[in-house]
Amino acid sequence: MNKEWHAKNKMPEKATLKERIDWHVRHQKSCACRGMPKSLLKHLTAKRANRTVL
Ligand SMILES: [Zn+2]
Repeated sequence: MNKEWHAKNKMPEKATLKERIDWHVRHQKSCACRGMPKSLLKHLTAKRANRTVL
């Protein structure tokens, strides 16, 4: 776990869906302590297929 990254990148308590997705995308690049939840992955895939989804 990349503790330094986590210390600098706290998930907001009331993060929106977009903020959560952004957080996980950045997280994946710096740390692998946990994967993106499937519910978010679904939205990310939809976002890539159709930019108007989010
Ligand atoms: Zn992590």
